[in-house]
Amino acid sequence: MSTPSASSALTPSPDLPLVVVGAGPIGLAAAAQAQSRGLPTVVLEAGDSAGASVRAWGHVRLFSPWRELIDPVAEELLAATGWTSPDPDGYPTGVEWVEQYLAPLAAALEATDEVEIRYGQRVVGVARYGRDRLVAADREQLPFTIHTQAPAGARTRLNSASLVDASGTWTHQNWLGGDGYPAAGENEHAERITYGIPDFTDPAVATRYAGKRVAVAGAGASAQNVLVGLGALAKEQLETRVIWLVRRPGTDDAFGGGDNDQLEQRGALGSSAKRAVTDGAVTVVTSFRTSDVELSEDGRLRLTSFADLGAGDAPSADGKVVDGVDEVIVVTGFRPDHSWLSQVQLDLDGELDAPTQLAGEIHPAWHSCGSVSPHGADRLRQPEPGLYLAGMKSYGRAPSFLAMTGFEQVRSIVAEIAGDQEAADRVELVLPDTGVCGGSGLFDGAPADGGCCGTSAEPELITIGAPAGTSVAQVGPSEETGAVAGGCGPSCG
Ligand SMILES: Cc1cc2nc3c(=O)[nH]c(=O)nc-3n(C[C@H](O)[C@H](O)[C@H](O)COP(=O)(O)OP(=O)(O)OC[C@H]3O[C@@H](n4cnc5c(N)ncnc54)[C@H](O)[C@@H]3O)c2cc1C
Repeated sequence: MSTPSASSALTPSPDLPLVVVGAGPIGLAAAAQAQSRGLPTVVLEAGDSAGASVRAWGHVRLFSPWRELIDPVAEELLAATGWTSPDPDGYPTGVEWVEQYLAPLAAALEATDEVEIRYGQRVVGVARYGRDRLVAADREQLPFTIHTQAPAGARTRLNSASLVDASGTWTHQNWLGGDGYPAAGENEHAERITYGIPDFTDPAVATRYAGKRVAVAGAGASAQNVLVGLGALAKEQLETRVIWLVRRPGTDDAFGGGDNDQLEQRGALGSSAKRAVTDGAVTVVTSFRTSDVELSEDGRLRLTSFADLGAGDAPSADGKVVDGVDEVIVVTGFRPDHSWLSQVQLDLDGELDAPTQLAGEIHPAWHSCGSVSPHGADRLRQPEPGLYLAGMKSYGRAPSFLAMTGFEQVRSIVAEIAGDQEAADRVELVLPDTGVCGGSGLFDGAPADGGCCGTSAEPELITIGAPAGTSVAQVGPSEETGAVAGGCGPSCG
């Protein structure tokens, strides 16, 4: 499918503005870029304030310093308002990112003639004016019609010349189920299952998990945050036990680049997570793709992995079972919501759900980091003239998006929308290296060195072992079934 140049799209005007979906870090950066070029712009935000999604994980400290979290053009706009820039070498939490940067930026943008931000407006549909996706003639000469819905349910329509979708992926967290759908029983036991990173410094949250047997599913930076939080809790409440469920056959590459990561705090997070595992509070179970969540007779949860179907003459085997679980924390990543773009023409990679032109550079099988080269309109424009995906959503299901990548994306996109192709094609960014940019390996491939957590062809029952600090984490054979125990204890990683 060909991706047209933006020259065939309409130019934003007061009657037909540029519409940006999402008042997150990248949507607001797009608005700042548009404002600096004098383009009339409307930002549509589902939440009731700027940075609604960032606020939802506001207790998490970012691994990027302030200097990488502020868009350069937004900074110029803010500077003119007397805004005090945070210490460029400091590391904010999500809430600090919102309160010290995103909220003042939204206010500064709203004070300009060019930008209007409409809160409580969820975009639920995008079409070409009066046309569905099938009608091909003269689409580029027609405006977009954007359908929005307010919390009370009222629907409105707005026409626009161009559209930048910076709506992120935060609101579409992946399920616990290994095949991308809810595991059997996942919804029934929802009261014991949490999605995302809990705030373990909140006494109510700490009480919920302290002394419990907690299963953590997922292997990215969010999972590392959870392991570190639970590891700290286990030092205070020795009965706290953690079982870490990962799809991959090993965890050697799960901790990032460590000292080699040019993002110092991201490297440190990986090292801390590794320590939480080696300290003994965490039992690792590899090659686990959750199929079922059930209630056991003892009132605890039992998680079962999809059965191994076997290959060739190899017999199939029952799935691994993890018993005795009180709580589950799911940090299995995010996926983009393209449902409201169903009436416009997209060119998305079949695996990642990211723009095809970008997908090859961000696939987690060979990019576990920010090793993507800086890019902009050329990779992000869609076959639908004037439509661009940007920010976290542009990475689809890939996990390695960095805000500074997004700032460069929208600089280029807005330049193209404004007709400044030379600026759109220019690269103005150097991204940090992570020390693990050779790739993390295929999800289901064997680890390079076999790892310490190899799979077993046998069905396994895994029971969370003794409390941290009292003895080594145990993963022993089940007396009940005689099945071979799996997973890996303190030596893992
Ligand atoms: C826990 C965590 C830590 C991170 N740490 C870092 C870090 O240290 N450094 C770094 O560079 N990156 C980090 N990231 C990655 C990334 O920079 C952030 O996720 C960033 O918030 C992405 O910005 P965004 O604007 O693309 O999306 P979001 O921040 O998700 O903003 C999207 C906005 O769109 C709104 N929205 C969604 N759907 C609709 C709709 N249909 N209609 C209208 N509005 C809608 C949402 O309410 C939200 O306000 C982190 C991500 C997470 C989750």
